[in-house]
Amino acid sequence: MDLTYTDEQRAFRAEVRSWLEAHVPKEPLPSFDTAEGFAAHREWERELNAGGYAMVPWPVEYGGRGADLLEWLIFEEEYYRAGAPGRVNQNGIFLLGPTIMEYGTDEQRARYLPKMASSEEVWAQGWSEPNAGSDMAAIQATAVVDGDDYVINGQKTWASRGAYADWLFGMFRTDPDSERHRGLTFILVPLDLPGVTVRPIEQLDGEAGFAEVFLDDVRVSVANRLGAPNKGWDVAMATAGFERGLMLRSPARFQNTARKLVELYRATEAAGLPIPPGVRDDVARAWIGAEAYTLNTYQTVSHLLAGGKIGSESSLNKIFWSELDVKMHETALSLLGARAELLPGSPAAELGGAPGIGDWLDGYLFALSGPIYAGTNEVQRNIIAERILGLPRK
Ligand SMILES: Cc1cc2nc3c(=O)[nH]c(=O)nc-3n(C[C@H](O)[C@H](O)[C@H](O)COP(=O)(O)OP(=O)(O)OC[C@H]3O[C@@H](n4cnc5c(N)ncnc54)[C@H](O)[C@@H]3O)c2cc1C
Repeated sequence: MDLTYTDEQRAFRAEVRSWLEAHVPKEPLPSFDTAEGFAAHREWERELNAGGYAMVPWPVEYGGRGADLLEWLIFEEEYYRAGAPGRVNQNGIFLLGPTIMEYGTDEQRARYLPKMASSEEVWAQGWSEPNAGSDMAAIQATAVVDGDDYVINGQKTWASRGAYADWLFGMFRTDPDSERHRGLTFILVPLDLPGVTVRPIEQLDGEAGFAEVFLDDVRVSVANRLGAPNKGWDVAMATAGFERGLMLRSPARFQNTARKLVELYRATEAAGLPIPPGVRDDVARAWIGAEAYTLNTYQTVSHLLAGGKIGSESSLNKIFWSELDVKMHETALSLLGARAELLPGSPAAELGGAPGIGDWLDGYLFALSGPIYAGTNEVQRNIIAERILGLPRK
């Protein structure tokens, strides 16, 4: 394996870096789980797209720049290094986009991908239901063909950014006699249709990015189906592979956290503050973990570029990045000591000489959800046991 970058890749990195230096907002945008922050992030996505950087590995005609996945990794490294805003349309560009590329018709690619790249249309993922979380094959929402339409009924929940999104991609039971993962269909649903009720779910911090989505006799054109009827499970597994195995959490995110952790360690040491035993090793382990994840991702991308696919090993990946994220944030909180519990801006947060508390607490709270979203880690361990290690189901 050759780990040196080509001249073209180095030039691409320099170009991305200088564009980001000129364009990344100087002040952080408000959280995209608020109406104001969502609008500001959508505007940022518009600017990113105008610069040609919304989704660099996509073909030019769909809003990309025809780069390959290695250049996407380089782009991600520069994006995090520049402290650029979170991607408000991540469910679209990282999950649904690649799935449309693989399963969509030419018309669907031309219809959906450019507006996804520009975030003119922001997407929510509508898989979970009140009685179908880990057990996604228990989906109860139905879609019945009537003329040229599906008539959809049911309830989705935990749709991230669903409170403000324009579209939802979901799975619906289209064969009433089917069981489990058979008889489901993957359908793209505009959220402004009659019969759609979006009810925001307020989180602990008071922000309402999540939503429950109620669908009552919602008519959606049959043309909005992605993949074959009753074969939605196969399409969804491809989406889950991109989510867990590559795109949702690129290594740059964790390299960036590891870098900030080392800075925090050095600042704590320089301020002469106490450092609990073992934390120095934890910081080193966090750095090594982020680098190991990066190398593993380069390996995944090489495999994909050679024509391979992402399979069950994406579950190994998902466990690794989600547990690494929790551990890195726990280490930061240990370094901050009691101050870690303060919110940024509180009077005692910035003590003379002590490093700033930054957004470690917020990051920690979000990191805790990593072992839950994109399929819980318990379920990923089941997948590894059965499909990779070949252990018996019971
Ligand atoms: C931050 C965040 C964002 C999310 N965004 C979205 C989104 O955009 N769209 C969407 O559709 N969903 C989203 N979800 C929902 C997420 O996919 C579900 O929470 C997750 O799949 C678990 O389902 P559940 O909450 O119903 O828990 P349950 O399935 O009820 O699980 C409860 C517990 O039981 C364990 N468990 C369940 N089955 C097994 C088993 N067979 N073996 C061992 N242990 C098991 C689980 O691991 C878990 O610990 C999000 C969740 C979070 C936290």
